[in-house]
Amino acid sequence: MAQDPQPDGAQQFASDNYSGICPEAWAAMEAANRGHAPAYGEDPWTQRAADAFRALFEIPCEVFFAFNGTAANALALAALCQSYHSVICADSAHVETDECGAPEFFSNGSKLLTVRTEGGKLTPEAVRGLAANRSDIHFPRPRVVTVTQPTETGQVYSLAELRALSATCRELGLALHMDGARFANACASLGCTPADMTWRAGVDVLCFGGTKNGMHAGEAVVFFDSKLAEDFGYRCKQAGQLASKMRFLAAPWVGMIESGAWLTNGAHGNACARRFAEAVSGLPGVRALFPVEANAVFLAMPGAMMEGLRARGWRFYTFIGGGARFMFAWDARPERVDALAADLRTLAAAAA
Ligand SMILES: *Cc1c(COP(=O)(O)O)cnc(C)c1O
Repeated sequence: MAQDPQPDGAQQFASDNYSGICPEAWAAMEAANRGHAPAYGEDPWTQRAADAFRALFEIPCEVFFAFNGTAANALALAALCQSYHSVICADSAHVETDECGAPEFFSNGSKLLTVRTEGGKLTPEAVRGLAANRSDIHFPRPRVVTVTQPTETGQVYSLAELRALSATCRELGLALHMDGARFANACASLGCTPADMTWRAGVDVLCFGGTKNGMHAGEAVVFFDSKLAEDFGYRCKQAGQLASKMRFLAAPWVGMIESGAWLTNGAHGNACARRFAEAVSGLPGVRALFPVEANAVFLAMPGAMMEGLRARGWRFYTFIGGGARFMFAWDARPERVDALAADLRTLAAAAA
């Protein structure tokens, strides 16, 4: 017997991964499920998805589909590095804090070099400081810079910031990788085209997140320089990332990109984050830890208030910076956002 769906009231903002599959992705998977198709990416859906990326990015890029962001990031970075190279990232970068050493593992030892940052944003000065500090044989040679757009705390690099970083990378002989697990949120936030935020700003390789954007699973690795993609298919296969029924990783992208849902989903999450941040701004004892530029809101508050929220059934994480993190996905319901804000307002009033 089919399980009842979760009652509506159970919607949580602990993670954008708590959400389900959006209608556009679901419909494309259903369409892909009609009949047989060739395996291992030789099917029409995979071709159509790759073409959709090329149209979206306005460039003949090379596109690969991985199961998750850890694999996409690790394999993309490995493709840019030799084992004696290093990758410059923010100290709060997902590749450093949440991928269990996958980038080092899949690159056979390329070391991550972390930089202490504000809001997870790298700067040209920080990159230069690390990359130009040592050039001797004893230090793992810097080869790549990876930026997270938006950052893990929801800050968005402006196009000018990205261009300045890529200029520094060019000058120092570094490649620029973008972890775009929430790429759509950043694009919606800046109101720019995907091309402007990537290759036109000097990004060489992008990991474009589908899961948090409303798919069941899947991230696309997009190479804007086809030379960098050489043999990448073998790397994916060896790492267990070549799906035999590839059409089910590819079809949802067709649904997302051709309908524009990728962008409206991102914009909706951002709007709900703003709605929540505005509703709780100025509450006694509650303080926003970071500017709200994408779909994340981080709030510092007394422990008793956090307990109060949990007692009222709200779930949230505090693993980044100790504040309560709220993430708003493609399906965040405004009434539910308001209910969370109302509970917080009640708790703040009682504590004041
Ligand atoms: C969610 C996320 C990823 C991907 O994580 P997986 O669990 O491996 O899919 C990568 N980078 C960032 C910044 C993320 O938030």
